Amino acid sequence: MAAHVHDHGGGVRSVEVPIPDNPLGHTLVYVVDTDNGPVLIDTGWDDPTSWDTLTAGLTACGTSVAEIHGVVITHHHPDHHGLSGAVRDASGAWIAMHAADTAIVRRTRGTGPDRWFSYMTAKLTAAGAPEEHLAPLRTPRRRPLPGFSPALPDREIVPGELLDLPGRRVRAIWTPGHTPGHVCLHLEETHPAQLPGHDRLFSGDHLLPGISPHIGLYEDPDDDTVTDPLGDYLDSLERVGRLAPAEVLPAHQYAFTDAAARVRKLLAHHESRLTGLLTLLAEPLTAWQLAERMKWNRPWADIPFGSRNIAVSEAEAHLRRLVKLGRAEAVTGSDPVTYVAV
Ligand SMILES: [Zn+2]
Ligand SMILES: [Zn+2]
Repeated sequence: MAAHVHDHGGGVRSVEVPIPDNPLGHTLVYVVDTDNGPVLIDTGWDDPTSWDTLTAGLTACGTSVAEIHGVVITHHHPDHHGLSGAVRDASGAWIAMHAADTAIVRRTRGTGPDRWFSYMTAKLTAAGAPEEHLAPLRTPRRRPLPGFSPALPDREIVPGELLDLPGRRVRAIWTPGHTPGHVCLHLEETHPAQLPGHDRLFSGDHLLPGISPHIGLYEDPDDDTVTDPLGDYLDSLERVGRLAPAEVLPAHQYAFTDAAARVRKLLAHHESRLTGLLTLLAEPLTAWQLAERMKWNRPWADIPFGSRNIAVSEAEAHLRRLVKLGRAEAVTGSDPVTYVAV
């Protein structure tokens, strides 16, 4: 198998690990040399082809999966954390994750698909989803679904602290928004081939060169705290903009420079999107109706079931933000609840 491996210099390489049937194509798994052996940043999707690509990539890097010393996870999503358990089984490596995402992993392992589907049904009903969308969720499932037994991490990533990576300086930067426990990892070292100050940031899904990451509500059947993921994300973007690393090593697409410019572009994109939503909210709309009217990468009629759920969650995150800013409010007595611009 031809592994796509890229040498970023200074003891950092990446392996393109495929994500099956996904337009993103691949996750970039970073291999960081330490004095105790290589450490992975993210691991990739749990699939035989992805596993073969990862192990072939590690061989191409001059090491092997058995040599892996540790696994640092940017966030709990299955295209990042999917193979972590298999890597740990093959190597004895530790797995580190931010506590907020570890809590999601723990809950996912304990929840099971049935409880999850009834939670999703209740949420979508409250958002105003029509019956034809809800019907498939009510069908009982016999087979377990993939992604319901993610590996439980053994270490906690503490924001602001250096990771325990002998011979390296990597500091955890908490960047909630895409998930509540998303972290970026700041490589506080000068690239040997570059000028001083050439620091780098492993940005996970927080900052990507050509994609605006999905920001939906933090899904939690056990927690009814009213969170503001879009507000968290915009704050996290500003944090990374102030850090202004010389090079960004993202988990999808490709490495890029001028993080500050990319941050400015994303902030402007979100500001204009929020303003556009206020125009739509001239009339009262449920989250579902808002999602139907928002601009996506294809017409609403062509968006498949799973992506519609993601779109509604994104509409809800925007409504939360607008309500928090005092630019929209819930219409008293509406059921399902509708929102209107103020
Ligand atoms: Zn993600
Ligand atoms: Zn991702």
